Order: sequence, then structure tokens, then C-alpha cells
Amino acid sequence: MKFSLQVCILCACAVSAFSLDREAFTITRYDLDAGVEPELERLAVRGRLELRNDSSSGQKHAVLQVSSSLSWRSIESGGKPLQFVSQPYESDVDHTGELSEAIVTLPKEVAPGGSVTLDVGYEGVIVLDATRLTSIAVPKEVALHSDWDQIGKSFTAVRGAGYVAWYPVAMEAGNLSEGNSLFDAIGRWRQRERGAEIHVWLHETGDSAEPPELPICNGAEAENQEGHRGVGAVDCSFSPVGLVVPTFVVGKYQLLDRPGLKVYYLAEHAKQAENFALAADPVTPFVSDWFGIPHAKAEVVELADPGASPFESGPWLLTPLSDTDPKLLQLALVHSFVHAAFSSPRPWIYEGLAHFAQAMYRERQDGRQAALDLMGLHRAAILEAEREHGDRPKEAAPSESLVTTTREEFYRSKATYVWWMLRDIVGEEGLKKALAEYNPAADKEPSYMQRLVQAQSKRDLEWFFDDWVYRDRGLPDFRIVSVFPRRTMESSYVTTVTVENLGRAGAEVPLTVRSDRGDATARLLVRASDKASIRFETASLPTEVVVNDGSVPESDLSHHVFPVKDSQK
Ligand SMILES: [Zn+2]
Repeated sequence: MKFSLQVCILCACAVSAFSLDREAFTITRYDLDAGVEPELERLAVRGRLELRNDSSSGQKHAVLQVSSSLSWRSIESGGKPLQFVSQPYESDVDHTGELSEAIVTLPKEVAPGGSVTLDVGYEGVIVLDATRLTSIAVPKEVALHSDWDQIGKSFTAVRGAGYVAWYPVAMEAGNLSEGNSLFDAIGRWRQRERGAEIHVWLHETGDSAEPPELPICNGAEAENQEGHRGVGAVDCSFSPVGLVVPTFVVGKYQLLDRPGLKVYYLAEHAKQAENFALAADPVTPFVSDWFGIPHAKAEVVELADPGASPFESGPWLLTPLSDTDPKLLQLALVHSFVHAAFSSPRPWIYEGLAHFAQAMYRERQDGRQAALDLMGLHRAAILEAEREHGDRPKEAAPSESLVTTTREEFYRSKATYVWWMLRDIVGEEGLKKALAEYNPAADKEPSYMQRLVQAQSKRDLEWFFDDWVYRDRGLPDFRIVSVFPRRTMESSYVTTVTVENLGRAGAEVPLTVRSDRGDATARLLVRASDKASIRFETASLPTEVVVNDGSVPESDLSHHVFPVKDSQK
């Protein structure tokens, strides 16, 4: 007893004596056999990992982390058990707010660029747990609608890194109570791991009298492999994983299989599943026209909890089947269909385009204003994120440009506006053609997309990409400085409008001149910290001038309407 305690203390010293670089290794390949046992809420995994040392120094130790509700059973290399210390590590990358961390002593130092193969085993339970949210004072019932992951008797749904570490990860802690640290940690992880090959043989185990349900995963399923399908097992691969969060579900699902769409639903919701399938009809040609023919089917998978927050990852949408408004169903499907049709390793392109497509589809449903209202729902989040970012000390703040950011407020919300503005600048046909030319394998430089769009539009867009994509210059802030109407010989009016941009990002902004005889709208490019003027010709005297219809995100929406006073008449 005394001896083993001493050994433990020695191990602990050995580990704490050097500074641990948790992000030194990238896990480049996973081959996992994952047994899911719903009756006991258990997961048992055996598998092989390949780790590559991406740091600049040799590494004698590797860090592997799984959810704190799972325990490390074995870690071996070349058939020999390796010494490892297992410890709890507080981090909100897992729903429990903690990870089981194994610090493994490697057989020999791994040089920079070198690799090591480890055979691992871990197991435990995955039960409903929203500790990371309740500990920042989110009420439990609300938190559980967000962190709904669990292996359960009647229903199982488990998302990967960022929700439940059901496969090994290795990253510095991220905490919801510390600003953006959680999203930074997960963002760095996804960036490092996007080339990883993940292969999981998922199967239901246990000795329930009922035949096992087939797990469903959001990777590519190798179907009809002898001895696999039919015994409750599925081969699921992500090659590479890219921006997808590996996720699996197990439940008593029925399948509605249509061209372009699969809907997995629980028996009592056949009607709602049918509604989803019907909603896909008008969406399919719209998405193909803009983003090409889908290379996979979009999949909608029902979440049993009717209050659960929907979750999307790649062409997968996990959602309760409670909405019945066909317009809402169409908008949800647009997003998944775009992912099924258009790939990119860059979040601002991959997610930004899917959100942009939803706004365009909203425009088709009810007009431009409805689309601007939909995008407007993102505005507060962008403003808050820009302010928070602006408040951080320059040296500590990572660049939040669209090409480097890990924040959803930027690569989803702000990117939606960026695509919308680009469409307004270069036109629908030009942007469609540029997207048709896009090849994800050729996207090696941040400027690749700019070149494609420029080639179609024949316009120099360096200023736009510089202010909105390559750098985070914040948002523009427009105000109308002056409006000068003048009567012409032909009894019409020429009105000169001058707009100032107090922000550090330039934009081409719509201006509308209103008069008794109708409105006239034109677009005006106003560079950052600059002024620009434009002239309108109208049949009667303008009553007011309005800058920005909401299509350009701005830090301040006042000074937007300029009444034309009597004195100017
Ligand atoms: Zn998405």
C-alpha cells in the first residue's frame, strides 16, 4: 500500500515536473469499436488511435481526454501496456463540465512531425447531464433542452467534441464562465482535427429480448456489410471529419426515404415526417440552382424531447418534429440541403453560405424585407461579439477575421451578411457562377474565393474582402450628412445626398429617396472613415432620404432617415 502510494506520488511529480502541452499531438486517425448498451446507459469503446506530434519539440507524454463519466481502462502500444495517470480535468468541452484525462508516458520520445499508435479502451455511462450549464446559472430544465445528449433505455442521442467527448480528444480547458475560452478551445481543436479520419463500428449490445436497434450516425455508412447490418451494427466513417461533429442516435425509428432526403421519425410522428418530405419539394431546385447537385442526401432525425434545441451538423438535422408551418420547415431544410450540396473547409464559407441561402429562401417566400428581418435576428449577436472583441487587449485577442475566427457570431451570423452584401454588389448570376467554380480542394489561400468572385464580376473587390473577410474591422456606421434638392429646367429635381461612414469597414449601402411620386433607390460605396455623394433625379421634391435598408450590418442605426426640410424646398 505504502509502496503504491509512493509510486503514485512519483508519477504525479513526473507529470507536473514538465509543462504539459495538451495540444502538441493531433489525432490523425481513429479506428473505434463502440458498443452502446441502452439498457445500462453504457458506452464501451476499444480502438486504435494515431497521434502526430505537431509541436516544435519532442514529446514524451501524450494527453487523451474523454467525458468524465467514462473511465480509461487500458492504453497500450505495440501490445505493451503503457503507464498512464488518469485525472479529472475541469473543462466545459464536455456536458459534464469535466473530462477524464489520461497522461500517457510514451514508449519513446516522439520527434516533431513523428507519429505514435496507441490502442485504447475506455467505458462508462452517458446520462443526461447539464452541469456545465447549470453551473453558470442556467435553470436545469432549460439546460437539459440544450444539453440533451444521453444513452437511454428508450432513446439515445450523443454528439461529439464540444458536447460529449465520446471519442478521445486533447485540448486545453475551455470554460463557459471565461468569455470565449470554450469556443476558442473547440475552434482550435476542429481546426487541428479537420483532416482526421474517423472510423467507428457502432453497435448495440446487451441482452435485451428485443432485437437491437440499428444506430444511425452522421458519417458515411458502409451498408450491407456482411455480419454487420442486421445485428444492430453500422460502419460509420468520416473521411475526413472536416467541420462535422460525429454524432449517433439509437431509437425505434421509422424511415421515410425520398430522393434527396431521409427522415428518421418516431412512429407517432408519421404525419410530421411527411410534412418535412413535402417541404423539400420546392427547396430542392432552389438549392441545386445555387449550389449544385447534392452529393449526399440531407437527413432529418427526430429528437424525442419535444423541447430539445435543434442541432445541425453537415447535412444532418436533429430536431423535434413539432413545427408544422411549411415555411419554417423549408427554411430548416434549405440549410441542410446546402451542406449536402456544397463543401468547404472554411467555416465562413460552409456555414455562412447555408445561412445566406436561408435568407435568400426567406426572400422568395415573403420578399426582401422578410429576409432582412430574418438576418436582423443575428444583428444583436454580431454587435455583442464585436464589442467584446473590441474590449479585449490587442495582444490577447485572437484575430476574429472571417478566415480565422472560431466564433459562431462571426462565421455564421456576420458571414450571412457578407454573402448577402456580395450578392448585392456582384449580382445573383455572378455570384452563382463564382460558387459553381469553387473547388474545396483548391481552396488553399484565403483569397481564393475573392478571385473567383472577381473573375465573374470584373470588379476589384480587394477593399470588400479586406474590410470584411481578411480582417475584422468591426462594422460601418453611416449617417446622412446633407441632402440638397435642386429644381431643374425640366421641372424635375436633382438631389445630392452625402453619406459619411464613421466605422472602419466600408460598404456599398442602399440609399432611398422618397417623394410623393414614389421612391428611388441606388447603391453608394462609402469607404471606411470617408464620405461619398450621389445624385438622384426625381419627378417631385423628395420628402426624405433613408440610408441602409438593413442589408449592411451597422454598429449604430440612428441618423438613418434625413427629412427634407421646408427650408430646402
Ligand atoms: Zn450548418
